[in-house]
Parts: sequence; C-alpha cells; structure tokens
Amino acid sequence: MLTLQSNVSLRTLNTFGIDVSARYFVEINSDEDLQTLLQLTDLRHVPRLILGGGSNVLFTRNFEGLVVKNCIKGIEVVQENAEHSWVRVGAGEIWHELVLYCVQKNWGGLENLSLIPGTVGAAPMQNIGAYGVEIKETFEQLEAIDTETGQKCVFEHHDCHFGYRESIFKYQARGRYIITHVTFRLNKTPVLNVAYGDIQKNLDVTDTRPLTLKSVSDAVIKIRRSKLPDPAEIGNAGSFFKNPEISTQQYDALKTEFADMPGYPTAPNTVKVPAGWLIEQAGWKGKRFGSVGVHVRQALVLVNYGGGTGGEIKALSEKIQASVYEKYGIELNTEVNFV
Ligand SMILES: Cc1cc2nc3c(=O)[nH]c(=O)nc-3n(C[C@H](O)[C@H](O)[C@H](O)COP(=O)(O)OP(=O)(O)OC[C@H]3O[C@@H](n4cnc5c(N)ncnc54)[C@H](O)[C@@H]3O)c2cc1C
Repeated sequence: MLTLQSNVSLRTLNTFGIDVSARYFVEINSDEDLQTLLQLTDLRHVPRLILGGGSNVLFTRNFEGLVVKNCIKGIEVVQENAEHSWVRVGAGEIWHELVLYCVQKNWGGLENLSLIPGTVGAAPMQNIGAYGVEIKETFEQLEAIDTETGQKCVFEHHDCHFGYRESIFKYQARGRYIITHVTFRLNKTPVLNVAYGDIQKNLDVTDTRPLTLKSVSDAVIKIRRSKLPDPAEIGNAGSFFKNPEISTQQYDALKTEFADMPGYPTAPNTVKVPAGWLIEQAGWKGKRFGSVGVHVRQALVLVNYGGGTGGEIKALSEKIQASVYEKYGIELNTEVNFV
C-alpha cells in the first residue's frame, strides 16, 4: 500500500547526513505501487526526485516536491546457458548484497565492485566502477518507467550511452526515467580481474588455494575499508569529483613543470589524471572549515563532520575547483549529483 507522507526529514536517507526535508515522500515496493503512484499523480507536473541509498547526492536545500524512494526488491535468474546466467534485479536491492549473492553463487563480474554503497537501480546512472571494472561490462538491459508518458520502456546496452561515471540517465535523460529493474549477464566460468596493484597487495597470502571470486571480493572490501571513510561514522558520498581527462599535449606540457604528476592513457590522445592528487597538491587534503572539510586520508572525499549544510559543501567544492584550475589549468567536474 502506498503511503504519501509530507515534510519528511531526509537526514538519514543521504550518506552526507544533510538535514533537509522533502515536501512529499513516498516509498515504492513494487511495480504495482509505481503504477498506483502514476494513476494518483501526474509526475510530469511535480518536481520529483528518485532516491536510492542517497550515497551520490548532495542536498543543497529542502526538496519542494515529491521524493520517491525506490525499494523494489527481487533477484531472479531469467536465462541461463553453459557460460552465463542472466539475473534480473529489483532497483531497490542493495548493491553490495547483490555482489555478495553473486559471489556466493560463483557468478563472476561484479566482485571488484564490492562494498560500493547504494542501490542496484542507481548503478547504471553513473556506470559505477572501481578497481578496473565498470557495470557496463556485465549490464544487459534495464526496465524503467518514463515519467513523461507513464509507459514502461526497456533500455538495451547501447541505449544507455555508458561512459566514465556517466550514462544517458545522468545527462540527456536526467530525472525522466524511474529505473525499476536491471538485468546483468554474469560469468559461470569467472575470469578474475586482479590487475589493480592494490588488489594484488591485499590478497590473503596465507591462503594457498586457487583464487576465487570471494578472495577478490574480500581483498576489495579490505582496501575500501582502509581507504574510504564509512558514511555511518562520517558523512560523505565517496569521490566528490571525477578524475579529469586531458589531452596528451596538455599533460606533456604540465609534466615539464610538475614532473611527478601521475597520468594514465585512456585513449590515443587523452590522459586521465587522478583528481585526488591534484586536490592534495593544491593543499586541500585534511582541511576543515567548521563542520565540513576534505577527508584527512582521501583528498577526493568531501565530508560532513556533523551539522554541515549542502551549501557549505558545495561552496567548498567550488573553491577546490577554482584552485586546481588556477594551479594546473584543469577543470574538475563533480561526480556527486546536486539537488
Ligand atoms: C563511501 C562511498 C564510496 C563510493 N564508492 C564508489 C565507487 O567506488 N564507485 C562508484 O561508481 N561510486 C561510488 N560511490 C557513489 C555511490 O555509491 C554510487 O553512485 C551509487 O550507485 C549510488 O547509489 P544510490 O542508490 O545511493 O543512489 P542515490 O544517491 O540515491 O541517487 C543517485 C542518482 O541516481 C538517481 N537514481 C537513484 N535511483 C534511481 C532509480 N531507480 N531510477 C532512476 N534514477 C535513480 C537519483 O535521482 C540520483 O540522481 C561511493 C559512495 C560512497 C558514500
């Protein structure tokens, strides 16, 4: 049954812990709930926000519209052959729980993405990625409701325009679709991806048995716990900025002045520079301004020590962008979604 609430605090529903409220709030637990919502409300005319785990949003003010929290659950195998299992997952499933489920079934493809906070429905939004893997590699299709027409639609891989931390849902179609299910194609004969140096270093060296999906997942969990602040302890949304991609020409020119600037070729003429390095070199790491700041161990993560506002975090992010641009001529773009 749908329960429409008003003036609901969102403080515990976003990992920054920003204390704002939603004018209206509803939780949907099934496709039927969503259909009922569409019959009751013409979503075209209501400012709306679809919320998963709130781990990639920065609320800068109260939301004067309808927040729809997607809690649609369910994991089902919809197709199988000798090599693959196709798994259709409700958008409200917790991402990390899906990863653990697949690891336990020995279905490969998601293990490097262990412990990323949030829900399955939000994962295609920015083509979540970590430790050399992105979901576009296992993504098969997704189902969504078009809030303009109320119709159900299916997006195949090529419709999603996946890129580095982006998809059509983050830009051209922002806010238009409510993703209800995502289907992944997982490998029954997993090929482990342990190329990332940190994973190698964190594998359990006392275990002499062949590597498994579980050993990779455990190593990733260990690295993430040691590197990233836990939102349950300190408000944050993971990486605040994307790693900028610049031309090889610009990179080579910068290297003459900043010899130790790291960079990773991403295409014949582009180089990705770690945003964390740029921010740290610009002197921001560990800086605190009242209730907000830049994390002490990870310069890419902006934090709310408690009681900070979205406006304060946004202002800090703009100062960081300006100072990195001034020092290196490189523009930092945000990964987090401002609301
Ligand atoms: C500690 C920490 C570490 C992180 N590490 C990583 C990482 O390694 N890699 C990475 O890629 N990300 C990372 N993130 C970011 C975040 O976990 C992911 O972006 C995640 O997919 C967000 O899921 P969510 O359910 O919390 O989305 P939300 O924050 O609730 O929403 C994010 C965006 O998606 C939209 N949205 C959510 N659900 C739906 C839906 N069902 N239909 C349509 N639109 C929807 C929202 O409107 C919003 O614009 C990290 C975050 C934290 C806090």
